[in-house]
Amino acid sequence: MQFAIVDNKRTEPKKNLRGNCPLCNASVLARCGSINTHHWAHAKNENCDSWSEAETYWHKSWKGIFPEKNREVIITKCDKKHFADIRTENNVIIELQNSSIKPDVIKARESFYGKRMLWIINGLKYIDQISIKNDEILYDDIKRLKKEDKIPFITSQNIPLSTPEISSYLNHLDDFEFLWNNPVKRWKYSERPIFLDIPGEYILWIVSGKGEKHGRMEVKSKKKFIEKYGGNYSTFLSLVK
Ligand SMILES: [Zn+2]
Repeated sequence: MQFAIVDNKRTEPKKNLRGNCPLCNASVLARCGSINTHHWAHAKNENCDSWSEAETYWHKSWKGIFPEKNREVIITKCDKKHFADIRTENNVIIELQNSSIKPDVIKARESFYGKRMLWIINGLKYIDQISIKNDEILYDDIKRLKKEDKIPFITSQNIPLSTPEISSYLNHLDDFEFLWNNPVKRWKYSERPIFLDIPGEYILWIVSGKGEKHGRMEVKSKKKFIEKYGGNYSTFLSLVK
């Protein structure tokens, strides 16, 4: 949690500060150690929002690019309250997911937030399991690009997303067929758009094959994506390590 109520104001954690949870009003303490991202934690019981996950630097940098009023927004529906990670000016809910999540929680969150919602998944831990499937067309393309000296090497192999030059490839693709060695099967229960956040300037929209070993991803400029939803790309670049 990045905000607690201190003296009636939404406040970021500072050492030794106490406040109240905006959702359940319980007492919360600022946790400002050197290992974990600075955050607020409930003084007594577990986190009151069963859907929230441990706050990482990845969460912090994605939330940090949106205006403060758009982060950790309390959504109330049928007497239930939850923190939406981001609610944009146009009322799109963006949920950030880093850790594993159960299928029933995916479904519950999607039905709670409705259709104007999307997921951003931290793709860092999956990039060496996902490849761009290389076919003849892509191979010819790469050969042509190599001639123009834009691509560092020619390959007839599938191209893992962890390849250091991956941005040079993605730069020339609108979409691609992907192969995912050990896919996160539970995401097949999702009925909302899923974007995979990978290092670099692109974000990948899983158009088909959620939770499957192969499918299709569309290559989107991270800058355009962030600006579309009212975020600030320069802030993002300054936050991302
Ligand atoms: Zn609470």
